[in-house]
Amino acid sequence: MALADVQVLDSPYPAAEALRQLCNRDDLRSLTLVPAEQYESVANLLPTGQRLATRAAPAVRHKIDVSATELVQRVTVLRRHHLDGKPSRHQPLTLLWAIGQLAVDAPRLHPWHVFKPQVGELLAEFGGEGSSATPEFPFWHLRRTGVWEVDGLEPGTISKPRAGLFDSADPRAGFTEEAYRRLRDVTVRTRVINALRVRHLADIENNHLLLERVGLTDYAKASGAGKFRAESAGQLPARQQTTRQEVDRCATLAKQVKALHDNTCQLCGKQLMLADGFHSEAAHIRGLGQPHCGPDVLSNLLCLCPNCHAQFDNFAVYVDEDDVVRHVLGRKYLAEFRRHPEHEIDDDHLRRHREMCETTEAVPDSDR
Ligand SMILES: [Zn+2]
Repeated sequence: MALADVQVLDSPYPAAEALRQLCNRDDLRSLTLVPAEQYESVANLLPTGQRLATRAAPAVRHKIDVSATELVQRVTVLRRHHLDGKPSRHQPLTLLWAIGQLAVDAPRLHPWHVFKPQVGELLAEFGGEGSSATPEFPFWHLRRTGVWEVDGLEPGTISKPRAGLFDSADPRAGFTEEAYRRLRDVTVRTRVINALRVRHLADIENNHLLLERVGLTDYAKASGAGKFRAESAGQLPARQQTTRQEVDRCATLAKQVKALHDNTCQLCGKQLMLADGFHSEAAHIRGLGQPHCGPDVLSNLLCLCPNCHAQFDNFAVYVDEDDVVRHVLGRKYLAEFRRHPEHEIDDDHLRRHREMCETTEAVPDSDR
Protein backbone atom coordinates (compact mmCIF):
# COMPACT_ATOMS: atom_id res chain seq x y z
CA MET A 1 0.00 0.00 0.00
CA ALA A 2 1.55 3.24 -1.09
CA LEU A 3 1.43 6.18 1.19
CA ALA A 4 -0.62 8.05 -1.37
CA ASP A 5 -3.44 5.59 -0.71
CA VAL A 6 -3.97 7.02 2.76
CA GLN A 7 -7.63 7.14 3.57
CA VAL A 8 -8.63 9.59 6.23
CA LEU A 9 -11.37 8.58 8.62
CA ASP A 10 -12.03 11.68 10.61
CA SER A 11 -14.50 10.23 13.05
CA PRO A 12 -14.84 6.94 14.96
CA TYR A 13 -14.74 3.88 12.72
CA PRO A 14 -14.66 0.21 13.74
CA ALA A 15 -11.01 -0.83 13.23
CA ALA A 16 -11.63 -4.57 12.88
CA GLU A 17 -13.38 -4.31 9.55
CA ALA A 18 -10.82 -1.96 8.00
CA LEU A 19 -7.95 -4.19 9.18
CA ARG A 20 -9.61 -7.32 7.80
CA GLN A 21 -9.92 -5.71 4.39
CA LEU A 22 -6.29 -4.58 4.45
CA CYS A 23 -4.92 -7.96 5.57
CA ASN A 24 -6.66 -9.75 2.70
CA ARG A 25 -4.33 -8.06 0.24
CA ASP A 26 -1.49 -10.12 -1.24
CA ASP A 27 0.73 -7.09 -1.69
CA LEU A 28 0.67 -6.07 1.97
CA ARG A 29 4.21 -6.31 3.37
CA SER A 30 3.87 -4.34 6.57
CA LEU A 31 1.34 -2.30 8.41
CA THR A 32 1.89 0.62 10.75
CA LEU A 33 -0.93 2.14 12.73
CA VAL A 34 -0.56 5.68 13.98
CA PRO A 35 -2.92 7.57 16.27
CA ALA A 36 -5.07 10.26 14.73
CA GLU A 37 -3.03 12.98 16.43
CA GLN A 38 -0.05 11.97 14.31
CA TYR A 39 -1.91 12.45 11.07
CA GLU A 40 -0.12 15.70 10.30
CA SER A 41 3.29 14.03 10.47
CA VAL A 42 2.15 11.30 8.05
CA ALA A 43 0.51 13.78 5.71
CA ASN A 44 3.83 15.61 5.39
CA LEU A 45 5.33 12.52 3.74
CA LEU A 46 2.87 12.67 0.87
CA PRO A 47 4.07 14.00 -2.47
CA THR A 48 3.30 17.73 -2.64
CA GLY A 49 -0.11 18.50 -4.06
CA GLN A 50 -1.13 14.86 -4.28
CA ARG A 51 -4.68 14.17 -3.29
CA LEU A 52 -5.21 11.78 -0.44
CA ALA A 53 -7.60 9.57 -2.36
CA THR A 54 -7.53 9.14 -6.11
CA ARG A 55 -10.51 6.94 -6.71
CA ALA A 56 -14.11 8.12 -7.09
CA ALA A 57 -15.47 9.77 -3.99
CA PRO A 58 -16.72 7.07 -1.65
CA ALA A 59 -19.61 7.38 0.72
CA VAL A 60 -18.40 8.67 4.06
CA ARG A 61 -20.13 6.12 6.18
CA HIS A 62 -19.75 4.43 9.49
CA LYS A 63 -20.70 0.81 9.31
CA ILE A 64 -21.87 0.65 12.90
CA ASP A 65 -24.61 -1.78 13.75
CA VAL A 66 -26.72 0.34 16.08
CA SER A 67 -29.38 -1.01 18.37
CA ALA A 68 -32.44 1.12 19.01
CA THR A 69 -31.05 2.20 22.39
CA GLU A 70 -27.66 3.10 20.90
CA LEU A 71 -29.40 5.09 18.23
CA VAL A 72 -31.25 7.07 20.88
CA GLN A 73 -28.02 7.59 22.84
CA ARG A 74 -26.13 8.77 19.78
CA VAL A 75 -28.63 11.51 19.07
CA THR A 76 -29.02 12.30 22.77
CA VAL A 77 -25.35 13.04 23.31
CA LEU A 78 -24.70 15.33 20.39
CA ARG A 79 -21.40 17.18 20.28
CA ARG A 80 -22.87 20.57 19.62
CA HIS A 81 -21.08 23.74 18.67
CA HIS A 82 -21.53 26.52 21.27
CA LEU A 83 -22.21 30.15 20.50
CA ASP A 84 -21.96 32.61 23.40
CA GLY A 85 -22.18 29.72 25.81
CA LYS A 86 -25.36 28.39 24.22
CA PRO A 87 -25.36 25.07 22.37
CA SER A 88 -26.29 25.40 18.71
CA ARG A 89 -29.61 23.87 17.67
CA HIS A 90 -28.40 23.09 14.16
CA GLN A 91 -27.79 19.38 14.63
CA PRO A 92 -30.96 18.47 16.57
CA LEU A 93 -33.09 20.57 14.20
CA THR A 94 -31.55 18.83 11.20
CA LEU A 95 -32.12 15.39 12.69
CA LEU A 96 -35.73 16.28 13.38
CA TRP A 97 -36.14 17.46 9.79
CA ALA A 98 -34.60 14.23 8.49
CA ILE A 99 -36.98 12.16 10.65
CA GLY A 100 -39.88 14.19 9.27
CA GLN A 101 -38.68 13.31 5.77
CA LEU A 102 -38.39 9.64 6.71
CA ALA A 103 -41.93 9.70 8.13
CA VAL A 104 -43.29 10.66 4.71
CA ASP A 105 -41.11 8.06 2.95
CA ALA A 106 -38.68 10.50 1.34
CA PRO A 107 -35.44 8.89 0.06
CA ARG A 108 -32.85 8.18 2.75
CA LEU A 109 -30.17 10.51 1.38
CA HIS A 110 -30.96 14.14 0.62
CA PRO A 111 -29.13 15.96 -2.17
CA TRP A 112 -27.52 19.19 -1.03
CA HIS A 113 -29.61 21.28 -3.44
CA VAL A 114 -32.77 20.02 -1.65
CA PHE A 115 -31.29 19.99 1.85
CA LYS A 116 -29.83 23.49 1.67
CA PRO A 117 -33.03 25.55 1.22
CA GLN A 118 -35.23 23.34 3.41
CA VAL A 119 -32.89 22.99 6.39
CA GLY A 120 -31.64 26.53 5.86
CA GLU A 121 -35.18 27.87 6.35
CA LEU A 122 -35.72 25.69 9.40
CA LEU A 123 -32.49 26.90 11.02
CA ALA A 124 -33.40 30.51 10.27
CA GLU A 125 -36.82 30.02 11.86
CA PHE A 126 -35.89 27.96 14.93
CA GLY A 127 -32.11 28.33 15.23
CA GLY A 128 -32.43 30.97 17.94
CA GLU A 129 -31.05 34.44 18.47
CA GLY A 130 -27.62 35.17 17.05
CA SER A 131 -27.54 31.91 15.14
CA SER A 132 -26.87 32.02 11.43
CA ALA A 133 -28.50 29.59 9.07
CA THR A 134 -25.56 27.50 7.91
CA PRO A 135 -26.99 24.11 6.84
CA GLU A 136 -23.55 23.00 5.58
CA PHE A 137 -22.40 22.48 9.17
CA PRO A 138 -24.99 19.91 10.30
CA PHE A 139 -24.92 18.38 6.78
CA TRP A 140 -21.25 17.55 7.33
CA HIS A 141 -20.72 17.34 11.10
CA LEU A 142 -23.63 15.02 11.91
CA ARG A 143 -21.35 12.21 10.66
CA ARG A 144 -19.82 12.30 14.13
CA THR A 145 -22.97 10.70 15.51
CA GLY A 146 -22.20 7.52 13.58
CA VAL A 147 -25.79 7.39 12.33
CA TRP A 148 -25.40 9.94 9.53
CA GLU A 149 -23.48 9.72 6.30
CA VAL A 150 -22.39 11.98 3.48
CA ASP A 151 -22.10 10.59 -0.02
CA GLY A 152 -20.16 12.19 -2.84
CA LEU A 153 -17.36 14.02 -1.02
CA GLU A 154 -13.87 12.90 -0.17
CA PRO A 155 -13.45 13.34 3.57
CA GLY A 156 -9.71 14.01 3.38
CA THR A 157 -10.24 16.99 1.11
CA ILE A 158 -12.52 18.91 3.44
CA SER A 159 -11.16 20.75 6.43
CA LYS A 160 -14.26 22.88 6.92
CA PRO A 161 -17.65 22.47 5.25
CA ARG A 162 -18.27 25.19 2.69
CA ALA A 163 -21.59 25.83 0.99
CA GLY A 164 -19.79 26.85 -2.24
CA LEU A 165 -18.04 23.51 -2.51
CA PHE A 166 -21.26 21.64 -1.79
CA ASP A 167 -23.07 23.75 -4.42
CA SER A 168 -20.76 22.46 -7.13
CA ALA A 169 -20.44 18.84 -5.93
CA ASP A 170 -24.08 18.43 -4.80
CA PRO A 171 -23.31 15.65 -2.29
CA ARG A 172 -26.07 13.73 -0.53
CA ALA A 173 -26.49 13.22 3.21
CA GLY A 174 -28.84 11.43 5.54
CA PHE A 175 -29.19 8.63 8.05
CA THR A 176 -27.06 5.52 7.58
CA GLU A 177 -28.92 2.50 6.25
CA GLU A 178 -28.93 0.91 9.70
CA ALA A 179 -30.24 4.02 11.46
CA TYR A 180 -32.84 4.54 8.72
CA ARG A 181 -34.05 0.96 9.13
CA ARG A 182 -34.34 1.37 12.91
CA LEU A 183 -36.19 4.63 12.57
CA ARG A 184 -38.86 2.96 10.44
CA ASP A 185 -40.15 1.56 13.72
CA VAL A 186 -42.66 4.03 15.17
CA THR A 187 -41.64 3.35 18.80
CA VAL A 188 -37.96 3.97 18.06
CA ARG A 189 -38.84 7.03 16.00
CA THR A 190 -40.95 8.45 18.83
CA ARG A 191 -38.14 7.79 21.34
CA VAL A 192 -35.64 9.66 19.19
CA ILE A 193 -38.05 12.57 18.62
CA ASN A 194 -38.67 12.77 22.37
CA ALA A 195 -34.94 12.69 23.06
CA LEU A 196 -34.32 15.52 20.62
CA ARG A 197 -37.15 17.76 21.76
CA VAL A 198 -36.59 17.26 25.48
CA ARG A 199 -32.79 17.14 25.60
CA HIS A 200 -31.91 19.64 22.92
CA LEU A 201 -34.90 21.70 21.90
CA ALA A 202 -36.88 22.22 25.12
CA ASP A 203 -35.91 25.91 25.16
CA ILE A 204 -37.86 26.52 21.97
CA GLU A 205 -41.02 28.17 23.20
CA ASN A 206 -43.27 26.93 20.46
CA ASN A 207 -42.11 23.35 20.44
CA HIS A 208 -45.37 22.23 18.88
CA LEU A 209 -44.90 24.69 16.00
CA LEU A 210 -41.53 23.15 15.29
CA LEU A 211 -42.98 19.65 15.22
CA GLU A 212 -45.76 20.86 12.97
CA ARG A 213 -43.19 22.50 10.69
CA VAL A 214 -41.30 19.21 10.19
CA GLY A 215 -44.50 17.17 9.89
CA LEU A 216 -44.16 15.36 13.22
CA THR A 217 -47.06 16.83 15.21
CA ASP A 218 -48.63 13.44 15.83
CA TYR A 219 -45.48 12.12 17.51
CA ALA A 220 -45.63 14.61 20.38
CA LYS A 221 -48.56 12.79 21.98
CA ALA A 222 -49.15 9.21 23.06
CA SER A 223 -52.63 9.52 21.58
CA GLY A 224 -51.25 10.34 18.12
CA ALA A 225 -53.44 12.11 15.59
CA GLY A 226 -57.06 12.59 16.60
CA LYS A 227 -58.94 9.59 15.32
CA PHE A 228 -62.03 11.61 14.77
CA ARG A 229 -60.16 14.40 13.08
CA ALA A 230 -59.96 14.86 9.37
CA GLU A 231 -56.58 14.48 7.70
CA SER A 232 -53.98 16.29 9.75
CA ALA A 233 -52.26 19.13 7.90
CA GLY A 234 -51.85 17.07 4.77
CA GLN A 235 -49.33 14.81 6.48
CA LEU A 236 -50.56 11.48 7.75
CA PRO A 237 -54.15 10.56 6.98
CA ALA A 238 -56.44 9.38 9.76
CA ARG A 239 -56.36 5.62 10.03
CA GLN A 240 -59.87 5.11 8.86
CA GLN A 241 -63.13 6.80 8.26
CA THR A 242 -65.13 7.21 11.42
CA THR A 243 -68.57 5.70 11.44
CA ARG A 244 -71.50 6.39 13.74
CA GLN A 245 -71.02 2.92 15.26
CA GLU A 246 -67.41 3.69 16.08
CA VAL A 247 -68.32 6.90 17.87
CA ASP A 248 -70.99 5.03 19.86
CA ARG A 249 -68.63 2.18 20.66
CA CYS A 250 -65.95 4.59 21.85
CA ALA A 251 -68.44 6.40 24.11
CA THR A 252 -69.65 3.08 25.57
CA LEU A 253 -66.12 1.92 26.35
CA ALA A 254 -65.29 5.27 27.92
CA LYS A 255 -68.35 5.05 30.15
CA GLN A 256 -67.45 1.50 31.08
CA VAL A 257 -63.88 2.25 32.18
CA LYS A 258 -64.98 5.30 34.18
CA ALA A 259 -67.69 3.28 35.92
CA LEU A 260 -65.33 0.41 36.74
CA HIS A 261 -62.93 2.79 38.47
CA ASP A 262 -65.65 4.99 39.92
CA ASN A 263 -64.07 8.02 38.21
CA THR A 264 -60.90 7.48 40.22
CA CYS A 265 -57.63 8.20 38.43
CA GLN A 266 -55.57 5.05 37.94
CA LEU A 267 -52.35 7.02 38.15
CA CYS A 268 -52.81 9.36 41.12
CA GLY A 269 -55.87 7.92 42.86
CA LYS A 270 -57.78 11.20 42.87
CA GLN A 271 -61.46 11.79 42.12
CA LEU A 272 -62.13 15.19 40.63
CA MET A 273 -65.38 16.57 41.98
CA LEU A 274 -67.24 19.11 39.90
CA ALA A 275 -70.50 20.91 40.80
CA ASP A 276 -72.51 18.26 39.00
CA GLY A 277 -70.56 15.16 39.98
CA PHE A 278 -67.24 13.45 39.49
CA HIS A 279 -65.22 13.95 36.35
CA SER A 280 -62.68 11.58 34.83
CA GLU A 281 -61.37 10.92 31.33
CA ALA A 282 -60.95 7.74 29.33
CA ALA A 283 -57.43 7.67 27.90
CA HIS A 284 -56.08 5.26 25.30
CA ILE A 285 -52.74 3.80 26.31
CA ARG A 286 -51.75 3.23 22.71
CA GLY A 287 -53.30 6.09 20.77
CA LEU A 288 -55.86 5.23 18.14
CA GLY A 289 -54.54 7.77 15.67
CA GLN A 290 -51.48 7.71 13.44
CA PRO A 291 -48.72 6.78 13.99
CA HIS A 292 -49.59 4.55 16.96
CA CYS A 293 -52.78 2.95 15.57
CA GLY A 294 -53.89 1.25 18.78
CA PRO A 295 -57.09 -0.80 19.13
CA ASP A 296 -60.31 0.66 20.46
CA VAL A 297 -60.84 -1.88 23.24
CA LEU A 298 -61.22 -1.76 27.02
CA SER A 299 -57.78 -3.32 27.58
CA ASN A 300 -56.25 -0.29 25.84
CA LEU A 301 -58.05 2.25 28.04
CA LEU A 302 -57.27 3.93 31.35
CA CYS A 303 -59.47 6.01 33.62
CA LEU A 304 -57.50 9.19 34.36
CA CYS A 305 -57.94 12.64 35.87
CA PRO A 306 -57.35 15.52 33.40
CA ASN A 307 -53.90 16.32 34.85
CA CYS A 308 -52.61 12.77 34.61
CA HIS A 309 -54.19 12.40 31.19
CA ALA A 310 -52.21 15.41 29.93
CA GLN A 311 -48.98 14.07 31.47
CA PHE A 312 -49.50 10.54 30.18
CA ASP A 313 -50.24 11.84 26.71
CA ASN A 314 -47.11 14.02 26.82
CA PHE A 315 -44.86 11.05 27.75
CA ALA A 316 -44.16 12.79 31.08
CA VAL A 317 -45.43 9.95 33.31
CA TYR A 318 -45.44 6.21 32.80
CA VAL A 319 -46.19 2.94 34.60
CA ASP A 320 -43.03 0.94 35.29
CA GLU A 321 -42.53 -2.87 35.26
CA ASP A 322 -43.56 -3.07 38.93
CA ASP A 323 -46.80 -1.11 38.52
CA VAL A 324 -45.33 2.06 39.94
CA VAL A 325 -46.32 5.37 38.40
CA ARG A 326 -43.22 7.47 37.77
CA HIS A 327 -42.37 10.87 36.34
CA VAL A 328 -39.75 10.77 33.61
CA LEU A 329 -37.67 13.44 35.35
CA GLY A 330 -35.43 11.42 37.63
CA ARG A 331 -37.86 8.51 37.45
CA LYS A 332 -39.54 10.07 40.45
CA TYR A 333 -42.00 7.86 42.32
CA LEU A 334 -45.53 9.24 42.12
CA ALA A 335 -47.95 6.50 43.18
CA GLU A 336 -48.90 2.86 42.86
CA PHE A 337 -50.76 2.08 39.63
CA ARG A 338 -54.37 1.18 40.38
CA ARG A 339 -55.88 -1.88 38.74
CA HIS A 340 -59.38 -3.30 38.89
CA PRO A 341 -60.00 -7.07 38.74
CA GLU A 342 -62.66 -6.60 36.04
CA HIS A 343 -60.51 -4.31 33.96
CA GLU A 344 -57.87 -6.33 32.18
CA ILE A 345 -55.12 -4.14 30.74
CA ASP A 346 -52.90 -5.14 27.84
CA ASP A 347 -49.47 -4.75 29.42
CA ASP A 348 -47.86 -4.66 25.99
CA HIS A 349 -49.42 -1.25 25.45
CA LEU A 350 -48.11 -0.02 28.81
CA ARG A 351 -44.63 -1.35 27.96
CA ARG A 352 -44.69 0.39 24.60
CA HIS A 353 -45.71 3.68 26.21
CA ARG A 354 -42.96 3.26 28.83
CA GLU A 355 -40.35 2.65 26.13
CA MET A 356 -41.29 5.84 24.36
CA CYS A 357 -40.95 7.73 27.67
CA GLU A 358 -37.46 6.42 28.34
CA THR A 359 -35.76 9.03 26.24
CA THR A 360 -37.55 11.95 27.77
CA GLU A 361 -35.91 11.33 31.10
CA ALA A 362 -33.47 14.07 32.02
CA VAL A 363 -30.01 12.65 32.63
CA PRO A 364 -26.84 14.53 33.58
CA ASP A 365 -25.79 16.42 30.51
CA SER A 366 -22.21 17.55 30.45
CA ASP A 367 -22.47 19.23 27.06
CA ARG A 368 -25.41 21.38 27.91
ZN1 LIG B 1 -54.52 11.60 38.21
